[in-house]
Amino acid sequence: MNTKSAAAAARATVYGYPRQGPDRELKKSIEGYWKGRVTADALRATAAELRRSAWQQLAGAGLDEVPTGDFSYYDHVLDTTVMVGAIPYRHRDAVAADPLDGYFAMARGTQDVAPLEMTKWFDTNYHYLVPELGPDTVFTADSAKQVAELKEALALGLTARPVLVGPVTYLLLAKPAPGVAADFDPLTLLDRLLPVYAEVLADLRAAGAEWAQLDEPALVQDRTPAELDTAARAYRELGALTDRPKLLVASYFDRLGDALPVLAKAPVEGLALDFTESAAANLEALAAVGGLQGKRLVAGVVNGRNIWANDLEKSLATLGTLLGLADRVDVSASCSLLHVPLDAAAERDIAPQVLRWLAFARQKTAEIVTLAKGLSHGTGAITAQLAATRAALASRANSPITHNPDVRARTGAIGESDARRSQPYAERTSAQRAHLRLPLLPTTTIGSFPQTGELRTARADLRAGRIDTAGYEERIKAEIQEVLAFQEKAGLDVLVHGEAERNDMVQYFAEQLTGYLATQHGWVQSYGTRYVRPPILAGDISRAEPMTVRWTAYAQSLTDRPVKGMLTGPVTMLAWSFVRDDQPLGDTARQVALALRDEVGDLEAAGTSVIQVDEPALRETLPLRGADRPAYLAWATEAFRITTSGVRPDTQIHTHMCYAEFGDIVQAIDDLDADVISLEAARSHMQVARELAAHGYPREAGPGVYDIHSPRVPSPEEAAELLRTGLKAIPAERLWVNPDCGLKTRGWPETRASLESLVAAARTVRGEL
Ligand code: GLN
Ligand code: ZN
Repeated sequence: MNTKSAAAAARATVYGYPRQGPDRELKKSIEGYWKGRVTADALRATAAELRRSAWQQLAGAGLDEVPTGDFSYYDHVLDTTVMVGAIPYRHRDAVAADPLDGYFAMARGTQDVAPLEMTKWFDTNYHYLVPELGPDTVFTADSAKQVAELKEALALGLTARPVLVGPVTYLLLAKPAPGVAADFDPLTLLDRLLPVYAEVLADLRAAGAEWAQLDEPALVQDRTPAELDTAARAYRELGALTDRPKLLVASYFDRLGDALPVLAKAPVEGLALDFTESAAANLEALAAVGGLQGKRLVAGVVNGRNIWANDLEKSLATLGTLLGLADRVDVSASCSLLHVPLDAAAERDIAPQVLRWLAFARQKTAEIVTLAKGLSHGTGAITAQLAATRAALASRANSPITHNPDVRARTGAIGESDARRSQPYAERTSAQRAHLRLPLLPTTTIGSFPQTGELRTARADLRAGRIDTAGYEERIKAEIQEVLAFQEKAGLDVLVHGEAERNDMVQYFAEQLTGYLATQHGWVQSYGTRYVRPPILAGDISRAEPMTVRWTAYAQSLTDRPVKGMLTGPVTMLAWSFVRDDQPLGDTARQVALALRDEVGDLEAAGTSVIQVDEPALRETLPLRGADRPAYLAWATEAFRITTSGVRPDTQIHTHMCYAEFGDIVQAIDDLDADVISLEAARSHMQVARELAAHGYPREAGPGVYDIHSPRVPSPEEAAELLRTGLKAIPAERLWVNPDCGLKTRGWPETRASLESLVAAARTVRGEL
């Protein structure tokens, strides 16, 4: 029995839980409401029932404190915008007329009114709606949702803790509203925002909250001294309130760093820290401030954003160390369980011995409860669980799935020359010119063509057994013929097969690579009602057979023009999957890179002269802390080069990324040593072209001249004007003409018209050279 902790038993809690329900009932109900098939009352009833069953499940599993307010019809940052009354001007009437419809209008836009911008929540694949603030913003408190959900949980007899986005993070995530100067700093609104938080906290106290949690993940990013001062002031003032619940300030996704002493000194009653990947740094920083005297520490020792069973012994050791550093230590996941699927037990296709390695939200809850018990009552109280995890961990560590000697031998033998093209860019570019014989300002696309309803039906028919593989392949071939015929007629120079056979750019490859696992029910919210099922990088990665060659070769057989091979790059294959936690990410990336390198080699051998390796995720997995970025970029760019360096000098390697702001990784883009890069640029008026030029980027580039995010068709004049702008930064010998991104979300009519504009623009501008 651990006497030290006997006085205050450790509590088990989580910060948030998957919202969708076991069968994605929430998605179905919301989408039904949008289509007019579900009434608002029915939607509310479904939501209340999902909340109730989630809480009861959590409490039934032994959690001492359940979170409230983390539920959302769309996004918790948008809910915060409603809570503080920061409704954008253009949405006020709609929100006043009908709060629920107004809410969805802010999230999705309407025929006439644009939605809020959506962007990634830190380095996760969850997207939030960006608050729009300005000097005229007036905040008003609306605690209705928070109070109602708290009351629901209390009425069930549970101990409940409301979870709110903290005021500092809310402001740091905001951007200047339309029409407000770009250099407006939302943090300057803190003094106006704090009274609103004070009011909400008072309402929560009145409704029966003993504790409230304020999430401040923005404080795990590098922050200026001024920003840290603002955080200090925020919590000094909130702490000084008399009519409030106890405050738990939560951090996650990384270490608190310089923000830790700030929060440790603040007059709040508790701190929550991430002790998964940043355990060592947070422990050290906690010790450096002499621990959290008089405070509650919630220790996030169970990884809330990955799917592996916890090493309970290791977590208990961390928790044991923490007992000396705070008044009271409670146990949680590192972040909200929103980022993992609901229940591993629902998976039927994963072998039972492998299933034991996994923990989704339900299993993680059980781990947290077990750890709290072990911390309070000693390991004797949890011997069965410890034995079970030890066995699962041993089975994972010794499995041929995680340790394939052939893969290990190959990755171990990678030398410097495997990650280097045989000739430098300047030399191979002339070989490529001679080989490809393209006109100046060559035209191409990013890969996918419209994924029509028929294609999705064909895939569903195949899954359901209504057609056989041969029947399915006939449909894909017919699609490729159509895509090729259109491109030839439109006059594009480098053609693509259109990616009709791909359900998703990561899943398609994950399904074919040995070492990846697929789930049947592993849905995770990406945004709103969109859920994804990320594949699991479970073991050593190898390629059983070519994955794309037949389709590319078939397309090439239909034309004399070069057909570009299309692959998803190693960094993106990791970024949009659940990754291994038992080896460095760089090792996993190297394995994926070798498998893709074989595919690149096979494409080349089959006569493909242009091969594109997409890395749209290169920037989004950039570590939150600047100090961690060089190491990440080193393995990320090396993995790309391993993928692409085995080809002849006259084979042209393309890459593609879809974002317009990449000033912080332009050196890394150069380090990829690709021959051609295509980037999103249409909406920023070729800003990327100027950034590449400013960096002295020596290679060929295709800043997009067609914004594929809307059905709008650019006119030939408009595309030509963008090209002329591009030419001011990049010389004609190195400028490509392409859309911003793939066309899979577009319809055929606008795709045809837009690509015709694009080709016409290239011809016009060539004539001016
Ligand atoms: N080749 C992919 C496509 O065209 C690239 C998608 C992406 O960049 N996200 O669909
Ligand atoms: Zn893209």
